[in-house]
Amino acid sequence: MQEEQIRVMQLINEIGFIVVDEAHAAGQLSETPVSLTLLSNDPLQLMFGFKVNSSCRDTSSLLNIMAEISGDQAKLSVVDGFAWLNLYDLNGATTEAIIYLLQQIVTSIESSNLRLDPGCLKCGSMEQNQIVCTQGRPSRVCAKCISTTIKKTQKLQLEANRGNLSTTFTLPGVCAFVASLWVIFWMGLDFFLSFYRVNQNRIEIDHYTTMFILCVTGVVGYCFGMCIGATLQKSRLLSKAPITMGILLVLIACLGGEIAYIALNFLGNIGVFEIKLAAQMLGVFLMQYSALHLLFKLVLVAFAGGACIIWTSSKEIVEVKF
Ligand SMILES: [Zn+2]
Repeated sequence: MQEEQIRVMQLINEIGFIVVDEAHAAGQLSETPVSLTLLSNDPLQLMFGFKVNSSCRDTSSLLNIMAEISGDQAKLSVVDGFAWLNLYDLNGATTEAIIYLLQQIVTSIESSNLRLDPGCLKCGSMEQNQIVCTQGRPSRVCAKCISTTIKKTQKLQLEANRGNLSTTFTLPGVCAFVASLWVIFWMGLDFFLSFYRVNQNRIEIDHYTTMFILCVTGVVGYCFGMCIGATLQKSRLLSKAPITMGILLVLIACLGGEIAYIALNFLGNIGVFEIKLAAQMLGVFLMQYSALHLLFKLVLVAFAGGACIIWTSSKEIVEVKF
């Protein structure tokens, strides 16, 4: 264990805090719920959060404590019901000095209008209260309020990830949008190659071309997959085999785009726009593509599929707020 970590553990023990997770600890100093956040080990940087009365606007007496401390070593601010003490460099500071500063702040809070009412800070109950800490924000709540808040958050989380029917109806539109992006991308590439008179069969597949193909197709494919995946995540279709559904939609969008691209090529060469014929000729066209061209397309589809799986599987997290 590093020296800094030992110092932090010593401090946590001395002030009687409980470790919440890797970066947070929390407890009560006098009557005030306080959290400790480890910002950095080298140099040792800590942040303390003090729960204060959010209706009090006069914070001058508390902020005056910091007048004696140099600005680049520490900072104290009061935001939305919390006083935040940032200690930027504790390499020279003793544990006693830190505890003394914490006590000074708590005394100042509790002797002003910033002090909290006793008991549960949600319902006022005096029974079964405990210190909680979410994302570094400390509070004091009773067992009943903890259970109610967790249930409420779980319900909100479920609702946020449930998906709705209206989004399901936008899926065909999103697939059509991706298919049209596919057409634009390949037509743009054709234009670029013919403009610079590049012969595809003469492009050498070496490290550089491979890297280039991976970068371009990676970015474009990721965007395609993201469009479909993010919509699918918010759709009701999610509850039924989301990954299979995502891959299927990516394939439909890319194949649809490719058929539209072939039909547009017909239009350019023989003056007719025939989607049905283009669909029938799809196999013939794919066989005619150069190895590099085919690789380019397959890698793009693979990236789109991967991104779609990532976005489809992503979940909206609703934070617990005590
Ligand atoms: Zn309560």
